[in-house]
Amino acid sequence: MNERKKKINVLSEATVSKISAGEVVERPASVIKELIENSLDASSKNIHIDINSAGKSLIRVSDDGIGMSREDLEIACSRHTTSKISSAEDLDAIRTLGFRGEALSSIAAVSQMDITSSSGVSETGTYVYVESGEILRIRPAGRSEGTTVEVRNLFYNVPARKKFLKKDSSELAEIVRVVGRFVLAYADVGFELKHGERQLLHVPGNLSMLERIELILGKNVAESLEKMVEHKGKIGIRGYISRPSATQKDKRAQLFYINGRYVRNRALSSALYAAYKSMLEKNRHPACILFLEISPDMVDVNVHPTKLQVKFREEQELKKEFIEALKRSFENLKKEQLRGKHLKVSSQKEDSEFLVFSEGASQQDQFTYEYDRGQGALRTSSEKDRNSLSSDGQLGQLHQIADCYILSVFSDKVIITDQHAAHERINYELFSKAKDNRSLETQNLIFPARIELSAEDSIVLTRLLEGLKKLGFFIEPFGERSFIVQSVPATLKKGNVEAVIYDILSDIKERDLEKVDIIEELIKITSCKAAIKSGTPLSVKEMEVLLEELSRCELPFTCPHGRPVSFEMDKDILEKRFRRK
Ligand code: ADP
Ligand code: MG
Repeated sequence: MNERKKKINVLSEATVSKISAGEVVERPASVIKELIENSLDASSKNIHIDINSAGKSLIRVSDDGIGMSREDLEIACSRHTTSKISSAEDLDAIRTLGFRGEALSSIAAVSQMDITSSSGVSETGTYVYVESGEILRIRPAGRSEGTTVEVRNLFYNVPARKKFLKKDSSELAEIVRVVGRFVLAYADVGFELKHGERQLLHVPGNLSMLERIELILGKNVAESLEKMVEHKGKIGIRGYISRPSATQKDKRAQLFYINGRYVRNRALSSALYAAYKSMLEKNRHPACILFLEISPDMVDVNVHPTKLQVKFREEQELKKEFIEALKRSFENLKKEQLRGKHLKVSSQKEDSEFLVFSEGASQQDQFTYEYDRGQGALRTSSEKDRNSLSSDGQLGQLHQIADCYILSVFSDKVIITDQHAAHERINYELFSKAKDNRSLETQNLIFPARIELSAEDSIVLTRLLEGLKKLGFFIEPFGERSFIVQSVPATLKKGNVEAVIYDILSDIKERDLEKVDIIEELIKITSCKAAIKSGTPLSVKEMEVLLEELSRCELPFTCPHGRPVSFEMDKDILEKRFRRK
């Protein structure tokens, strides 16, 4: 974004009429946003922001960018003057944050502003003082390359606007938020924000991305993130996203940037939720700090005065691409988890360790293979497969505690898995696939079950019959309020049929059927009802099958309601726990 060669020009009436005009100065934070954007467009590497009384009495933004010549300064504060575009055609190729030539003039119109700027060593700098938009003083001034803009007494001449400013603490909070967004996006730029004598932010230019995230969004968020697998397609995507098991309680840590510009966009956030769909507990939200690169002609930034909103061309396609990119990252996360186990175990050279695993394997052979709780869902892989899995120790040595949790013991860590949550996830993926391609194994009942329902329940069930059919339940009305269950998904134990149907009915009645995706709800409920309950003792074989099936899941991180399936306690955690570190 080197503007050195470009001089500021006055846009023609025709170009101006194509620009989405509007108020860019609403409050101190919006002034700061515009001034920082100008500093960044001028290739600054260090930006200092000083404010007094939450920006109401003073905002000073000082940078080390390419600066302005006297000639430029003379017109920079007039309306529609910019060095960033010269005609309407340029609107399709915007790479800079600004382009409307409105910010300085709008700020100058409602404040007392002075600018000191120098465009390099050979020139001395220039100082201008502007009040209500008019240059009152201009003279040479010493300054190293860069620009300092001082905005005093914002809205001094527009009392109506001044009245609408919020109390200092609110304005200040907004300022910190706005500056924070730049800190995250411009990872090689140093920032300092001071409120009077108080330093609110100090970000050296070499601070890493994760350190910046920790500083701006907190340690809790930083520690819950995973680096996304970089995506290159019609859009480029890089950044950080929540580990599915570590989501947030609000949306504050969801930040999207397009070509370096922070934006709010409904298509992007709905795609984010679609990708995390079955992994979010109620009222939990994924965090994301994502940088999207899109060819400027695919995105219109000229739809909103402060450019906070943008419009995509080919929105649906971009959305799809974004979801796929997120899914690839989940896949990678899963692979890393599996590989981690594998590598750590096989790199372990001590015989004793191998002994543990081979012992485990032979011990397991004594169990006859039987898993009646989930015939269909837990279809076993071939005997050979399973042996190779357990002999290289991918599953660790298995124990069950409290008839509820599976302990996988490895040489360097323990993984604890919730048997019910794991089975729910397995069922969920099975039913979800069945919904899409109808390849679910069903089980005909030799003695079809007959169920009698209340009038209300029979209305509800009638409504669900279609959906249930997709999940492998063939149920037919039989008279007014009775139904015959002909077949059920193979994962369900026979004896449970009626109870499961009653359970499904009572659960689904709590939902607002007009608002929810009925099939999705049925899948979640059925996955839960068909899953091994806590309190069920499991044999080693059964645990093995469960864990293998889990490792084959696409998203093995959470149950379909977003609760975690397993967690790991490795050497690191233990060392911290015992305060060795
Ligand atoms: P825009 O950013 O849309 O071009 P502005 O009113 O924000 O419009 O700024 C007008 C012009 O003043 C810019 O195009 C740029 O050439 C110049 N300018 C403003 N701030 C700076 C700065 N900090 N460093 C260098 N040039 C600047
Ligand atoms: Mg600007």
